[in-house]
Amino acid sequence: MLFNYTMKIILFSIFTLMLFSCSNVKQQQTTITKKVNDTMNNQLTEEDWKQKLSPEEYRVLREKGTERPFSGEFETHWDSGIYVCKGCGSELFESKTKFDAGCGWPSFYQSIDKSKVKEVVDHSHGMTRIEVVCANCEGHLGHVFPDGHGTPTGLRYCINSVSLGFKKKP
Ligand SMILES: [Zn+2]
Repeated sequence: MLFNYTMKIILFSIFTLMLFSCSNVKQQQTTITKKVNDTMNNQLTEEDWKQKLSPEEYRVLREKGTERPFSGEFETHWDSGIYVCKGCGSELFESKTKFDAGCGWPSFYQSIDKSKVKEVVDHSHGMTRIEVVCANCEGHLGHVFPDGHGTPTGLRYCINSVSLGFKKKP
C-alpha cells in the first residue's frame, strides 16, 4: 500500500513537472511568434489590420485617410519622448523635432532616421504631394511639405495623431 502511494506521488510529481515545462515551452514559442509578427507587419492582411486597429486608425493608416484638424491627441502634446507608428511600433519621430506649425496636426521637421519613413509621390485629390508612410508596415502617416519655416530643415512632416503612439522618456 505504502509503495503504491509513494509511486502515485512520484508519478504525480513527474506529471506536474512535465506540464510545467510544457507550458514554459509554449510561452517561449508565443514570445518568439510575437517577435516574428512584429517584424512581419507588412505581411498582415487587410482583415488582420481591421482586427488590430480601431476603425479610425484603420481609415487613416490603411486607407490613407486624414483626421480632422485640431482634433488629434498629439497636436498640442509637448512631452519629451519618441513617437512611434500606431500600426507596428516602429520609432518614427523624436519630440525634440516637433514644432507648432499651427496647422492642426502634429508637425515635425525631420524623422528619427531616413530609413524609418518612406516618402511617396501622391497625386490624389488633384494635388501633387509627398506622402509619408511607415517604412516597416507601410501605414499612412501624413505628408511632408517644404514649408517648415524657421526650422533646421525647412520641412514640415504633417502627421496624423491617430497614426502615432508615444513613448515617454523615462
Ligand atoms: Zn508601422
